[in-house]
Amino acid sequence: MSRVPRLHIQGDFASGDVTLDADTAHRLRNVLRLAAGDAVQIFNAASGEFAATLIELSKSRGVARLDARLREPGRDTGPWLVAAAIKRGPLDTLVEKAVELGVGEIHPIVTERTNVERVNVARLDAIAVSAAEQCERIDPPAIAAPVTLREKLANWPRDRRILLCAEAGMSIPLAQALAGLDFAAPWAIMVGPEGGFAPAELEMLAAHPLVTGVGLGPTILRADTAALAALAAFQFASPRGRISPRAL
Ligand code: SAH
Repeated sequence: MSRVPRLHIQGDFASGDVTLDADTAHRLRNVLRLAAGDAVQIFNAASGEFAATLIELSKSRGVARLDARLREPGRDTGPWLVAAAIKRGPLDTLVEKAVELGVGEIHPIVTERTNVERVNVARLDAIAVSAAEQCERIDPPAIAAPVTLREKLANWPRDRRILLCAEAGMSIPLAQALAGLDFAAPWAIMVGPEGGFAPAELEMLAAHPLVTGVGLGPTILRADTAALAALAAFQFASPRGRISPRAL
């Protein structure tokens, strides 16, 4: 039996009927081939997740009646990912996989050797929503507008520590950093561009009080590989890594 479609719907809902916009109605009718009477699950971080029934589905709109609450509202407390912008394809994949691996917010940055002009945040938002629907999260992570590394650090939250994936310079093995980590505290994982961090950037970062340099083994990983490897290690080492998505 194929799983009931999960739909991320904007808004603040708790009971009664939820109106679905034309785009959603189109997707339900023409892509998922659904009709009035079919079951769906609708969710967002502020409302939580509900079992629902489509009671109207036309060309221009839909209506879903909320039947039962399945999950409480809540936002993931996974680590933020601060990643130098990389090429479109790898960045699309990175965002999708980071969502599956429990990332908190995603913060693209521009560093000295970043070789990407612009980042299409709207497209990445859509990828994050689609990934959250598939992997059964209720909170697609926010994607920040790209800023320079310096600006990011200048406006950085005072309590959020950073695991800097440093391909050079002082660093400790990531596994060692995770062994004694306080997973209840706010964290971020930072990764450089394909061309790596500039020496001056690594020096500036090494001197930053919130930064811990970590190594990811003896090989030079592509930026997207490094980000996903670090996110996976973090997720699996954290208490969340011991939760299975479903009861048998
Ligand atoms: N072109 C650079 C490497 C850049 S790798 C060079 O040859 O030196 C892209 C990013 O992935 C790096 O900035 C770093 O954040 C991360 N990374 C890759 N391999 C890593 C490793 N073994 N340890 C820690 N970080 C790594």
